Amino acid sequence: MDSSSHVSVLSTVDVRVGSSHLRGDLFPSARPLAPAVGGADGESARVASLGTIAKYPPPPPFLGRGDAAIYRFMLQSAARELVPGERVAKCLRVPVGSGVDVFYAPSARSAHYGGLQTCGSIWMCPVCASKISERRRLELDQALMAFDGVVVLATFTVQHRVSDALSALLDGFLLSLSRLRASSPWSRIVQRYGVCGAVRAIEITHGSNGWHPHAHILFFLRPGADVRGFGDALRRRWLGLLARAGLSASWSVGVDVCMADSAVGDYVAKFGSQWTVAHELTKAAVKKSRSGGGRSVAELLSDYALNRDGAAGALWREYALLFKGKRHLVWSKGLRALLLPDVDELTDEELANQHDQVAVLLATLTLRQWSVVVANDARAELLTVASSGDVVQLIDFLVSLGVEVGGVLTQD
Ligand SMILES: [Zn+2]
Repeated sequence: MDSSSHVSVLSTVDVRVGSSHLRGDLFPSARPLAPAVGGADGESARVASLGTIAKYPPPPPFLGRGDAAIYRFMLQSAARELVPGERVAKCLRVPVGSGVDVFYAPSARSAHYGGLQTCGSIWMCPVCASKISERRRLELDQALMAFDGVVVLATFTVQHRVSDALSALLDGFLLSLSRLRASSPWSRIVQRYGVCGAVRAIEITHGSNGWHPHAHILFFLRPGADVRGFGDALRRRWLGLLARAGLSASWSVGVDVCMADSAVGDYVAKFGSQWTVAHELTKAAVKKSRSGGGRSVAELLSDYALNRDGAAGALWREYALLFKGKRHLVWSKGLRALLLPDVDELTDEELANQHDQVAVLLATLTLRQWSVVVANDARAELLTVASSGDVVQLIDFLVSLGVEVGGVLTQD
């Protein structure tokens, strides 16, 4: 057996790559892009309260429970088709060394890869975004628990038309957001309402009126702060800033303000879900849109991948290239140090590469063997099989992909 066809499993197992054969597609392949057109959904200009938010679009019905990872890898493959030049195209696909490790984490009964490139893109990569957003959520939950005061969730929107180009709309919107907490008018608001800090997240949906960028900002106010007065102050300031940028919003819908606690209660009452204000801020890249609120970016990508919706794919690509490099979650200066003094701030890429659990090396695949897994589009399924921790099942699976097993399990 030559070394290029050796798979080491636990210690010494010989597995030979046979002739690779492609299995029938588990998922329909997406068709080429069509020109962008407006979305078909009706869109309410008003961002609804937290109570109408649903979680990540559920996996399609032909996937069973526990197949969320397969779904995310499938969406990642769709993203690769749409932005082939971006890092997401290589994420968990292209090896960095001479082999690809498969790790098994017994405590979580899960598996993950080592020795592969990861992109760490919160905007483009459904696999990395899922990991990053979950870790950001846990941090934010911890910060909320540590804070002794009033937390207000404010959602900032802008009026938009189907003819608005996303780049111009987004530039004006982000400029207004950056001006929100600057200069002396803001200092007066800080003093009056005891603003200790803020955490900001941006997101975007697409509906019948075109692109709809909006921002959620959690404001941390002193105990007993006048929330209604604070909301009115935010509204006055936001409408003024939009006007300065050549944009507008109405008084009634430009800023939606609610107490973070009551918003959470509203959601739980409607959906019986564990969705929290921390989910709301951190899950922009992976969540489902509000009912009647157009399609979220995750839904656009899903429509491209599952329904062969080329227009949705073109819209997703427009969004992805414009959001690339923008920070998703921004903490105001000093707030992390105040609420999370012992938690290091990690980059998105560091979070995407972080594995909490103690894991054992189940197998190392050669580059040639890995290429068979990739050619079979079986990256996620391999992890599902490996999450059993059973080496024999893993070998059987590799064999089913066309990898010939040339030896038997042996001990050192
Ligand atoms: Zn990635």
